[in-house]
Amino acid sequence: MPGQYNDKSRMTAPISHVSQTLTPLTGLQLEAAENLNQIGFLTWEAGHGPVRLSAIAQGLLGLPEDVPLGTLLDLLDPNERPSLQTHWGEVLAAGQRNTVAEFAAVLPDGRRRFGANALFEHGADGVLRCCVVAIQDITSHDAMIQALSDSETRLEEAQQIAQFGYWEWDFEQRKAVLSDQAVVMWGLPPDWTADERGLLGLVPADQREWVSKLYAEAFAKRQTALRYEVRKSDAEGNVREFHSLVKIDYAPDGKPRRLLATLQDISELKSYRRQLHSLSFFDTVTGLPNRALFVDRLNQALTDASWHSQQLGLLMLDLDRFKDINDSLGHTAGDALLQQAAQRLQQVMREYDTVARLGGDEFAVLLPEVRHATDMGSIAQKVLSAFAKPFRIGDQDVFVTASVGGAFYPADAQDAVQLMQYADAALYHAKSQGRNTFRFYSKELTRQAAERLTLESELRRAIESEELELYYQPKFDLATGVLVGAEALMRWNHPSRGMVPPLSFISMAEDTGLIVPMGAWALRSACEAAARWNATRRRVPLKIAVNLSARQFVGTPFSVTVSEALRTTGCRPEWLELEITESLLLDGRDEILAILQDIASQGISIALDDFGTGYSALSYLTRFPVDTLKIDRSFIKDLPGDRSSAELVKAIVSLGHSLEMNLVAEGVETREQADHLVGLGCQLVQGYLYGKPVPHAMFSEMVALA
Ligand code: C2E
Ligand code: CA
Ligand code: CA
Repeated sequence: MPGQYNDKSRMTAPISHVSQTLTPLTGLQLEAAENLNQIGFLTWEAGHGPVRLSAIAQGLLGLPEDVPLGTLLDLLDPNERPSLQTHWGEVLAAGQRNTVAEFAAVLPDGRRRFGANALFEHGADGVLRCCVVAIQDITSHDAMIQALSDSETRLEEAQQIAQFGYWEWDFEQRKAVLSDQAVVMWGLPPDWTADERGLLGLVPADQREWVSKLYAEAFAKRQTALRYEVRKSDAEGNVREFHSLVKIDYAPDGKPRRLLATLQDISELKSYRRQLHSLSFFDTVTGLPNRALFVDRLNQALTDASWHSQQLGLLMLDLDRFKDINDSLGHTAGDALLQQAAQRLQQVMREYDTVARLGGDEFAVLLPEVRHATDMGSIAQKVLSAFAKPFRIGDQDVFVTASVGGAFYPADAQDAVQLMQYADAALYHAKSQGRNTFRFYSKELTRQAAERLTLESELRRAIESEELELYYQPKFDLATGVLVGAEALMRWNHPSRGMVPPLSFISMAEDTGLIVPMGAWALRSACEAAARWNATRRRVPLKIAVNLSARQFVGTPFSVTVSEALRTTGCRPEWLELEITESLLLDGRDEILAILQDIASQGISIALDDFGTGYSALSYLTRFPVDTLKIDRSFIKDLPGDRSSAELVKAIVSLGHSLEMNLVAEGVETREQADHLVGLGCQLVQGYLYGKPVPHAMFSEMVALA
């Protein structure tokens, strides 16, 4: 190293040729070599005064041709000078002919480093006669070597930091070389060497087979590069992951000659990647897998199921009143509800089921091992009962029910997209069946769903293009046979399907809210008709009944719609009857009572439709301003033979009498039924026996004849 003597130093080569060829070289040759290598000579003849410097030496040291020995010694770096002098003393004392040294000289333009080779000539008496020293400026050379060693150190450090090593395998020499970092990373002793088996032996046993197969394939295809990853436990037992990128050299005969590979510990990288992955695949509110991950797992499960000929179930779930809670209690409460719902779902599921949040209040459950649809039924039931207890949101108890739809692989669908679509259709069906319930997919269900979609768009159009029409079914006084009114029944005059009955479109109109404008239209048309038919004064004025859906009582104040219809058509309140169902009264909302009271106070009568089919809570009959009961057709149908029907109708009639209500028997088709009803004291009838629902024009004729 600098300032020290080293006989085999890298300076030996350039200077030693001078020593070996000093005598045979011609002056010109010497000068050429001297110039090329910028070698300066210092010659000193013992006992003869100054040292003589060659031209190059003069340039290198900035000195004249002849200088006293002392001047030269003064140039030496004072730190190195004592050890240099000792060394030279020893060389001379030993009668050595040649020595190589490095020294630093302090020159006017700075400190410079020189390499030196000294030759000594001794006389036959052993006394030193002459000394020739060749010097060369190695400052930059030295700096280069320093820089190189610095950058090697840096590279080594960088490799340590990056957990990056390399290894090499030579097929001819059957020799492996591992970089220091690779040795450390792989947890090997520092002096480790290996033969071919040893190198493969480094791959953990469980991965050895596929790694050697990977190489065999690469060699067979003459691949020049190969990348793969292996996992290995470190000393503490943590699994670490390594990536190798291997470059393969082949001999001209096509056999692999050499492998040169990088080895990188990618454990951290992988864990970052996993974190990133978890951000994009998990729902941040509930921590459940999101839709993307769910679809991924579903696809995987489908592949497994088809491989093992197994069945698989998919449940979709939707919270019934989530929107209300979100709207009234705020989003934080909504999030809290979702979190609790997610927890409950996970609690009722088995470990290998996947619960995911698809978005909004929609959840999905993947059941990879379901043997039968009934198993799925009990799981769906478990889900529903998980929602039976109230949720604690802030300081409130909130009741939330759920609706569940299910589909089955392979019975219902073959792929993830269809399976999800079908489960969704089933969920929709469950919701339409009154919520807090589950339904499973069937082919019929899909067909209905598809048809519903087309019907819905057609129905929207129907309102504008006036395809709706009211039919009128006459109503008679049983005792006198006088026409007393009619029930207005809606028909849809569909351009291609013909006359569509209300059962096919009313429930959809209710679901979509289309019933509101449709109902308003029906009310207006019926009022218009009633006003016209009653225009010529009649002994018994005709009362026209209009059916109402519960949905029409939500939103816009319904009593306003009614009074508007009366006002614009000139229909009197006593010519109008509104038919409602028991379910509306059981809704329990105070505003319904208020609206009905408002309507009744205008002098409009209110009839309870399909009476007897619903609930037996009769207390509402006195609470609400109902004045007519319509006995449902299903009880009339089996009259007079069926005992229980007869008893029931009798009970309804006497109930109506005692509450001073009008009674209408619906669906009277036979004479016997009519006679029986007369006997019971029922006043009004409606049914095919007396007349089917007919178009406006036809009913007008009936009115004119009556
Ligand atoms: P609803 O109010 O119970 O109407 C009576 C239904 O019984 C009518 O069916 C009528 O055609 C049928 N019917 C009458 N007499 C007989 C009979 O002797 N034998 C048999 N088998 N059937 C008879 P429609 O017209 O198909 O209406 C079905 C339902 O649609 C109605 O039941 C009503 O709930 C609803 N609906 C009809 N028009 C409207 C409307 O404008 N608004 C609302 N919200 N619902 C309506
Ligand atoms: Ca009715
Ligand atoms: Ca009815």
